[in-house]
Amino acid sequence: MEKQQGMVVSGYGGFYQIRLPDGQIVNCKPRGRLKKTFSKIYVGDRVAISFLSDGSGMIEDIHQRRNFLPRPNIVNVDQILIVLAWRMPAYDLLLLDRMLVIAQKAAIQPLICFNKIDLLDDNISQYQKIKDAYTRAGFSVFAVSATQNTGMDELRAALSHGTTVMAGQSGVGKSSLLNRLLPEENAEVGDVSERLRRGRHTTRYTRILQLPDSNDGFIADTPGFFIIELPADFTAEELAQYYPEFATAAPCRFESCLHHREPDCGVKEAVAAGEIDQDRYQRYLRLLSEIQEREVQYR
Ligand code: GDP
Ligand code: ZN
Repeated sequence: MEKQQGMVVSGYGGFYQIRLPDGQIVNCKPRGRLKKTFSKIYVGDRVAISFLSDGSGMIEDIHQRRNFLPRPNIVNVDQILIVLAWRMPAYDLLLLDRMLVIAQKAAIQPLICFNKIDLLDDNISQYQKIKDAYTRAGFSVFAVSATQNTGMDELRAALSHGTTVMAGQSGVGKSSLLNRLLPEENAEVGDVSERLRRGRHTTRYTRILQLPDSNDGFIADTPGFFIIELPADFTAEELAQYYPEFATAAPCRFESCLHHREPDCGVKEAVAAGEIDQDRYQRYLRLLSEIQEREVQYR
């Protein structure tokens, strides 16, 4: 029997919708033995399917996953679009740094998106300073307004390959951005989308939708993504490796340097010289002490 490879784009009541490379969506059931082995199937899974005579399909194999994001469950994610609002709610850079660390730890490419840039008023230099700090650190930063439809072309280009999920506080404009990015028929607004998504039985459905004008650019319609806990096994020693700009500093005297109280620290020297953003370094120290306090508790 000939098998075809596809991606799980949604799943409802025991059925899964599989997208084939040509864009066709096939409604599939998992083969009985997959259920027996308790193999869960998640949105984003790459699977092999066979066809039944009625045109529906049977999921035969689930391929190895590159990563897994919980609540809502989604796998094989390539990018996380971290959405912040310029105002309402005010942006929180400690939260941003935390999410950048979490994304990199999960080996998922983070992108930074400042929404509600129409509320910038005369704070352009304040935004420019933040943008510079993160751009110099090696991240892509986008400034958009979902309501004014500005900055969207650059953002679309960055999402045109792979699967992207959005993350960020409630109210920053994730649903509004989704509506801008997707064609009318997929778009759902505010309360309505939330009700549909939760369904009658408070089940949360996740879908992966193809972005228009792209062959392999997908976005998950999960405006609920909001992971802020560093993984439980996260160590103080590994934190610095998720600050790409630290790698450009001169080597520290101690290989195990946490760039805090140690003497002859290349990172601290680079901060003093203005080569590493002072504020981001201060927030690094905040996260470092949080991890250290946690390590003391669990020792
Ligand atoms: P979510 O909770 O992240 O999905 O945020 P929503 O998309 O529901 O947006 C929350 C509120 O912010 C809504 O009232 C939107 O109209 C508003 N909003 C979204 N994007 C923008 C924007 O670019 N500028 C302004 N001024 N308001 C926006
Ligand atoms: Zn150091």
